[in-house]
Amino acid sequence: MDILDKEQLRANLDEIIWNIEQARITVSEHNIIKLVAVGKYTSIDNIETLYSLGQRAFGENQVQQLKERMTALEELPLEWHMIGSLQKNKINNLINLRPTLMQSLDSLELAHELNKKLALKESKMNCLLQINAANEVSKSGFSSDESYDMYQRINETCPNINLKGIMTIGAHSKDTSRIQKSFESTYTIYDKLQKEGASICSMGMSADYELAIKCGSNLVRIGSLLFK
Ligand SMILES: *Cc1c(COP(=O)(O)O)cnc(C)c1O
Repeated sequence: MDILDKEQLRANLDEIIWNIEQARITVSEHNIIKLVAVGKYTSIDNIETLYSLGQRAFGENQVQQLKERMTALEELPLEWHMIGSLQKNKINNLINLRPTLMQSLDSLELAHELNKKLALKESKMNCLLQINAANEVSKSGFSSDESYDMYQRINETCPNINLKGIMTIGAHSKDTSRIQKSFESTYTIYDKLQKEGASICSMGMSADYELAIKCGSNLVRIGSLLFK
């Protein structure tokens, strides 16, 4: 993992922020987009440099790596997001880290297990329901069909989980219309869930964040394009 030059990181960040702005205003001037910098392919030094350039929200997909980085950078006022599959045996570790947002709540079983352990620790966690919008076997998450009901069910049965919205990973395809379809169907679910208090629609990564924003995303998770 190379240490990147500050000017390189500045250029990457500026370009992404500019592109976010361009995509955002095609939807609405009032639509605010949050950028979460995904550090899983990069070193702690680069995260620190990005912080010095103004970036505050960071995401990791493994509890162990999240812990190392949160610990190493605990003096900095950063937001940390968990964005990867959570194994049952890591639940307590994640709770102890108190992440800002756990974006990958991907099964009812996990929700119940997480809720139980949160209750034992008298703790709460902000979470997003992960939706497998393109129904891909390689991805975890709730199917589009069941998402709305499951969201309500978790809201009713898991008082220690604060559901804030939904997250999806765009369809794995070179066909833009397929990716767009997966974002559109996710947005439809989000739109319905706004009445249930949902306020975060997390979709879009390095390859598809502009498309995701045009489909209604208000949180993008970008790694490789930022740390190139
Ligand atoms: C790795 C990862 C990202 C960032 O991916 P890039 O293509 O490198 O931008 C976003 N979301 C999730 C869930 C990831 O695992």
